[in-house]
Amino acid sequence: MKNLSVKLGLLFFLIIFTLELFLFFFLHSSLVESRVEEELFSLQSRGDAHKDTLRTSFEADTIQHVALMEREASTDVIVTNLKGSVLASSLSLDMKKIISSGMKLQNGVVENDWENQPYIVTVSSIPNQGYVFMFQNTNSIQTLIDRLNNHFFITGLITAFLTIVIIILLSIALVRPLNKMKEATIQIKSGDFSISLPDIGNDELGKLAKTINLLASELKHLKQERSQFLANISHELKTPLTYLKGYADIVQRKELPIEEREKYLSIIQEEAKRINTLVEDLFELAKIDQYGFKMKKQPIHLSDFLAHLHHKFEPAFHHQSMRLHVEMPKENIIVNIDSARVEQILYNLLDNSLKYSQTATETTLKIWTNTNDLYISIVDNGSGIQEKDLPHIFKRFYRGTYSNHSSNVGSGLGLSIVKELVNAHNGDITVKSNAKTGTTFTIMLKGAVLNEKDTFSR
Ligand code: ADP
Repeated sequence: MKNLSVKLGLLFFLIIFTLELFLFFFLHSSLVESRVEEELFSLQSRGDAHKDTLRTSFEADTIQHVALMEREASTDVIVTNLKGSVLASSLSLDMKKIISSGMKLQNGVVENDWENQPYIVTVSSIPNQGYVFMFQNTNSIQTLIDRLNNHFFITGLITAFLTIVIIILLSIALVRPLNKMKEATIQIKSGDFSISLPDIGNDELGKLAKTINLLASELKHLKQERSQFLANISHELKTPLTYLKGYADIVQRKELPIEEREKYLSIIQEEAKRINTLVEDLFELAKIDQYGFKMKKQPIHLSDFLAHLHHKFEPAFHHQSMRLHVEMPKENIIVNIDSARVEQILYNLLDNSLKYSQTATETTLKIWTNTNDLYISIVDNGSGIQEKDLPHIFKRFYRGTYSNHSSNVGSGLGLSIVKELVNAHNGDITVKSNAKTGTTFTIMLKGAVLNEKDTFSR
């Protein structure tokens, strides 16, 4: 059975049908029982009324009169003396067995087996004189039961009809949108993201449809981003490679003066370095983008980490006649970070300060904490970032307007790598910049500072 609406419809049918069967037996038997009781009660009352009449006058006339009355009615009567001899009867049948068992009772039901006997019977005894037996034909009860059975049969038919209607409704309300969603996901799988499922409300199905729409638009966006990214990469690689090929061709010329050759060789070297940086950055981004990229956080002494960083970068700054200055709190701070990743973040930011600052300027690494959060600012007195560039600098391949002319021009990937790494550290990065004072990047690493009790002994 493949169709959900048929499955649900049949389930519905089974539930309703079982319910109906249960109700049928329960209602049927209780209705019939109460009807028989009612009949017996009215029979008994009628017999009692005759008994009252006969108690005052147990004469042949009165007895005949009672029998006559009952002949006219739907019930019947037999009046006997104390020994059980019939004195009067509105029935032509022989009821000896009934009479002899009724004589054991004072008052009450003599026969109630309406299913097998032609009559139900009650008896009312007239003290010291005789008995009044009342008879009710069971045909009327049988008719009632036939009617009831008919009703239940009709209800059964209505249930079956309702089941069909419900199967149709379910298939419209449930299966059709589900089928549409299935088709949409197949479409997505085949790479076509131009789907738009209709809004069908806010229930589970509606939410599922919305999620699929959202998924399709995200995938579309991702696909566009990926194509854009690939286009950027090929563009970025093509330019230096064209230069490389062009200059390599020139260098091959035998008649080229030695100084010229050296000039071109150094350009080739520069371009090769550029390609290398680009490939390294791309590799880095690919690693971060990978599903399951994990930080390897470890508690370390912040002062050790910064001393190591200073030691590593100071020569590069010195080489450009710049100064690298570190400002940090005096107390011993222990931080829980992935030191290699944070080093990578700071490497990119310090490298930018080097690239975009003039000689004889200073770059300061300022560190402070706020409860458990670690803050690191990289403040330079460089050329600053133009206001129109500021909102874009963290985008992949985005380069500031002027940096295209710099000999140290980068790949435009550095800050996007920084942002990804800061995010992976559950942190945040902000930037302030102006042409006069330079640029300040501030990183906040949430919960990176460890309390004394969490730390380790040196
Ligand atoms: P790039 O490889 O070009 O340096 P980044 O992603 O590191 O790429 O930086 C993006 C752009 O932001 C740079 O091209 C530059 O214009 C600007 N920028 C980044 N850091 C600084 C800085 N410290 N001073 C001035 N401009 C900066």
